[in-house]
Amino acid sequence: MNQATATPSTPTFKDRDSTDLIVVHCSATKTSADIGVRDITQWHIQRGFDTVGYHYVIRRNGELETGRPESAIGAHVRGHNSNSIGICLAGGVDANNTPENNFTPAQFATLKVLLDKLNARYPQAKILGHRDLSPDKNGDGKITPNEFIKACPSFDVGQWLAGHAL
Ligand SMILES: [Zn+2]
Repeated sequence: MNQATATPSTPTFKDRDSTDLIVVHCSATKTSADIGVRDITQWHIQRGFDTVGYHYVIRRNGELETGRPESAIGAHVRGHNSNSIGICLAGGVDANNTPENNFTPAQFATLKVLLDKLNARYPQAKILGHRDLSPDKNGDGKITPNEFIKACPSFDVGQWLAGHAL
């Protein structure tokens, strides 16, 4: 592709006052797409954000990448950005773009380690999936690509947590 590459303009971040939610997302990309923070940053800039909306991204190989500073207000879920941390797992749709729980064991292992740390830092925060917050799809056009898929993050975070006590 010859598409011009958007350059992030050093964004200034505002810190959150509270952290009540830790929201798990997926990128709604196919298993063949080895994407990470760099790719998502481009998509989010094209959508009008300053930079990547998530605080963390977990690549297909389980590698953890940092997006926004953890203390900053994110841009990943309508109505809850000011009090939440956003984590995005690469993947989540099948070859026909249908939501599918197709994350790798390495991704789930990294998610577990990350959530353990975040849970220790923010013991009051509730961990859930994006779909558990039932976002309003008819928004202002400033939502991330995965927000178009109600199934995000394509698996039941509560059920998964129940089997992986923090
Ligand atoms: Zn989402």
